[in-house]
Amino acid sequence: MLDEEIAAQLNKQINAELYSAYFYLSMSAYFESLGLPGFAQWMKAQAKEELGHAMKIFDYMADRGARVILEEIEKPPAEWESPSHAIQAFLKHEQEVTEMINKLLKLAREKGDYATEVFLHWFIEEQVEEEASAAKLADMMRYAGDRGHALLMIDRQLAQRK
Ligand code: MG
Repeated sequence: MLDEEIAAQLNKQINAELYSAYFYLSMSAYFESLGLPGFAQWMKAQAKEELGHAMKIFDYMADRGARVILEEIEKPPAEWESPSHAIQAFLKHEQEVTEMINKLLKLAREKGDYATEVFLHWFIEEQVEEEASAAKLADMMRYAGDRGHALLMIDRQLAQRK
């Protein structure tokens, strides 16, 4: 059986991952509206990954005999000032998720819950990748700016993500 506090925090994390999916899907729609299909597809793929994260926690809780309680998912923003602002928001959001995962790991350690600690290792590594890809994209945007040829080149590159 999972510790009550850990179960509550895992439930929160499911909500956060679902919100991330919602957030990036909204970003995908935003990029689509700007005529940037590569960015749109990349963000849609990112949204799907976030759904996968939520499912992973969902399954883990079931395996540990804990009850999943789904809460309301907050409405994400629909507009950003520019493509680079959206990418900055993406990076910032991933940094916040990393913080949440770190706190979860700290709690699992405090409670001596080794299974949850090991389970969270995958998320710790995943967040390193997520932050790295967000930072890389943010760097590219800094050089490309928000219009012109360079932005279209990035868009073409991002379209390759499945
Ligand atoms: Mg995630």
